[in-house]
Amino acid sequence: MDMSKVKVAINGYGTIGKRVADAVALQDDMEIIGISKTRPNFEAKTAAMKGYNIYAPADKIDSFKNDGYTIAGSIEDMVKAADIVVDCTPGKIGVSNKALYEKEGVKAIWQGGESKDIAPISFNSEANYADAIGADYVRVVSCNTTGLCRVIYPLDQKYGVEKVRVTIVRRGGDPGDIKSGPIDALVLDPIKLPSHHGPDVKTIMPHINITSAAIKAPTSFMHLHVLNIQLKTECSAEDVKNLFASRPRIRMIADGISATAQIIEFGRDLGRPRNDMWENCVFRDSVSVDDGELYFFQAIHQESDVIPENVDAIRAMMSLEKDNLKSIEKTNKSMGIGFKC
Ligand code: NAD
Repeated sequence: MDMSKVKVAINGYGTIGKRVADAVALQDDMEIIGISKTRPNFEAKTAAMKGYNIYAPADKIDSFKNDGYTIAGSIEDMVKAADIVVDCTPGKIGVSNKALYEKEGVKAIWQGGESKDIAPISFNSEANYADAIGADYVRVVSCNTTGLCRVIYPLDQKYGVEKVRVTIVRRGGDPGDIKSGPIDALVLDPIKLPSHHGPDVKTIMPHINITSAAIKAPTSFMHLHVLNIQLKTECSAEDVKNLFASRPRIRMIADGISATAQIIEFGRDLGRPRNDMWENCVFRDSVSVDDGELYFFQAIHQESDVIPENVDAIRAMMSLEKDNLKSIEKTNKSMGIGFKC
């Protein structure tokens, strides 16, 4: 253990937790002191192969040991050993861990599946990093909200945003998820409008006029956003393309790509771990301005876009870096984010 590095624990090692663990392990100012697993499944096996210390609920330690695992201790032991816990348990489960983090005086980050009330600060690296400096509890907003903040924030800074209308075609489940659906339907999610995504953006940028609708579709690759944004000052489609291309976590997608499946294939060709696309994928040729309104499509890789935001949130909360752009640059460099088409 390197005493100069911030000690990070990952509570819940699933889709998000395993990616946050790998991203934290790449940083020179933080280290993974352990991850928690509730069952000795294939993810526990890969965690052991990567050399992460595995912690388990006290009443499950014996079943892990019977399966040949070395267990470092209970989840309580892991929390005690950490400076900060990244809670990546399923939505609405993380809230039940809050009392433990409070008891042990450990800082904690929750994910977007938790209610906004779980922490005083909802977080996005570009839009409100400064609010999280030194904070004890932060929620990194969901994949869709992160994707929306990354485009709305720079547009609002440069041109002023009058209003945002977005329709989100949501993936039905993650690729490894065998319990979600639909397999043959478009499901209004929810029927009653707006969906929670627009209000969730307001937890970070309260002044933005935004409403959203969402539809669940039978795909596991990515979410797709159809955006219509009215800006306060005039600009051209070219201006917006240049603005987006200048942002650290937006990738302009071109080269004949017109589908989420091709973006995932592109990620594979780039040699990305787990074919992750951590950046917003804005379809360059879709960006258009008509009668003062901006339109575009963007695809959001739900499994990975929030991962660099978790790393930045740790850096802010532990006061390792005061300047958000420096943290973003450091995280991006370590993960290999930033190659532009
Ligand atoms: P997941 O189901 O893939 O992983 C959760 C892990 O936590 C599983 O390994 C599960 O066994 C474990 N777990 C369950 N109860 C636990 C407990 N009490 N203590 C420790 N571990 C426990 O879930 P996920 O998709 O990684 O989602 C985690 C959070 O991230 C949720 O809030 C979710 O809304 C949010 N999120 C998910 C996505 C996505 O698309 N998957 C995107 C952004 C944010």
